[in-house]
Amino acid sequence: MKTDAIVLAGGKGKRMGSRIPKQYMELNGKPMLYYSLKAFEDSFADNVILVCNEGEEDYCRKEIVIKYGLNKVNRIVPGGRERFDSVYNGLMASDGCDYVYIHDGARPLISQYILDRCQHYVEKYRAAVAARPARDTVKIEDGNRFIDSTPDRNRVWLMETPQVFEYALARSAYEKLVSSRDRLKDAGVNITDDTMVIKMFENVDAYLVEDIYCNIKVTEPEDMIIAEAMLKGGRE
Ligand code: C5P
Repeated sequence: MKTDAIVLAGGKGKRMGSRIPKQYMELNGKPMLYYSLKAFEDSFADNVILVCNEGEEDYCRKEIVIKYGLNKVNRIVPGGRERFDSVYNGLMASDGCDYVYIHDGARPLISQYILDRCQHYVEKYRAAVAARPARDTVKIEDGNRFIDSTPDRNRVWLMETPQVFEYALARSAYEKLVSSRDRLKDAGVNITDDTMVIKMFENVDAYLVEDIYCNIKVTEPEDMIIAEAMLKGGRE
């Protein structure tokens, strides 16, 4: 059985408001991106495909991959305009495998626990995603900043990554997505995660794998403090 991991670092991280892209900002002395690459290095994954911004490939190779001896990273490819373009580029860079892990490089706290659980469920259901039950009540707005409806909190889950699929399934779904992007854009469809794509184009439902560890996406400056504290607490 062969497993590839696609680690996404092709975003601009505008909400962080820093000069350097957030994926390269340091957490306890190492770039944020190092931590998720290291998690896959230490896992059962066979290959890691790193997707970065165009022009940052050499920086990633020298300052992260070679510097920290991340030997499973054997492809570094440029991303695209949207997250789904970056995922597509990552999928196309694979030589083919049984399962593919798609992970946000901005989630440095990914654990071996969640990788193992996702593997268990993807083998059973073809698609599995790290997720967390909502703690807060979620509201759907009406488009004018007023509350339209309230989904039952007991059924609301917040999506994390990794999102894990049979490779052939993911590849087929993303090929269809990319060839119909203009139609989706016109219809106002906003693709924000991978399980959406697999459902939309292959009609496969992903199993929700409850994450029991903190696996935040570092987005705002205060998230850096949380991530550093968690890493100091033994998650390194
Ligand atoms: O923008 P968002 O926070 O949802 O991005 C999630 C992850 O996807 C980040 O790790 C980011 O670097 C990556 N990304 C990407 N290519 C894009 C946009 C985001 O690889 N065009």
